[in-house]
Amino acid sequence: MNENPKYSFVVPAYNEEANIEALYKRIKQLMKNTDDTWELIFVNDGSTDKTLTVLNELTEKEKRVKYLNLSRNFGHQAALSAGLKFASGEAVISMDCDLQDPPEVIEQMIKKWKEGNHIVYARRRNFRKDNFIKRLGSKIYYRIMGKFTRIDIPKNVGDFRLVDQKVLSEINEMPEHSRYLRGMVAWTGFKHDFVDYQRPDRQKGESNYTFGKLAKLGMDGVFNFSMLPLRIGFLLGLISTISGFGLLLYQVFDVLVNGVYYHLYKWLVVILFIFMGFMFMLLWIIGEYIGKIYDDVRQRPLYVISETKNFE
Ligand code: UDP
Ligand code: MG
Repeated sequence: MNENPKYSFVVPAYNEEANIEALYKRIKQLMKNTDDTWELIFVNDGSTDKTLTVLNELTEKEKRVKYLNLSRNFGHQAALSAGLKFASGEAVISMDCDLQDPPEVIEQMIKKWKEGNHIVYARRRNFRKDNFIKRLGSKIYYRIMGKFTRIDIPKNVGDFRLVDQKVLSEINEMPEHSRYLRGMVAWTGFKHDFVDYQRPDRQKGESNYTFGKLAKLGMDGVFNFSMLPLRIGFLLGLISTISGFGLLLYQVFDVLVNGVYYHLYKWLVVILFIFMGFMFMLLWIIGEYIGKIYDDVRQRPLYVISETKNFE
């Protein structure tokens, strides 16, 4: 019968005709020394090149290779989510198609998984040829992320990771639409570890992560995992009201003690400050409610159980 494989590899592919065969060969090479079963799932994310043709040829001669073909380009996170839904392995490894995620690292990931970690992240130790903007952006981004979010989202990890089927079923349970998978994985809170590696350059083809796509991914990260942005209203309101009242006190004091005359518009400015403050506060309150609504519609599980005992 069709037993579940031990390992699933999930690879989103957008215009990767030149890399698919090479990736397959390296995975096969890697798995050669084990008796463990495996599957390699490609998700064709609406490629406009010959990716699908290459996949068809490959899947004809190798049954362990499978593919999902998306109807159009849905983006990396969506493609990966699709692949993860179909992955049935005990351990599921997600990786890029362009051989920037060296299959050799997987050996160490598997080792850490066998030691009892449910999530193993591959962590980049270098940024090499990524351009300056990408490097700087990444640095600032992780700094902000660290401050803004309540859960610990590991730094310098991408979507190259191994997760246990147990973690995966939690991820697959999350129906949220804007997906920031690395955050969602971290959110489950299972025992995790890292494997450090040097990230090589892309093998063939172009990077598909344009600045726009990257920015969107980054925003998803902040907004999906933090309520802080909508609390900005509170801060602004507080500053505005306090300075308004401060000014008011000062002017009243000046009038009563020093007998200085204040033109009407100066009183109006003070009142404006105070009421602007109230308005920001109101915006913040509305924001809090919207935050709660967002939390609810996202329908993340309330909690995640790691182990149980003596339940039958
Ligand atoms: N990818 C995808 N859909 C997209 C863009 C990218 O499935 O719309 C895939 C791509 O084929 C690759 C992975 O996502 O396997 C990472 O993309 P890329 O190498 O372009 O990103 P970078 O490594 O430059 O961050
Ligand atoms: Mg790449």
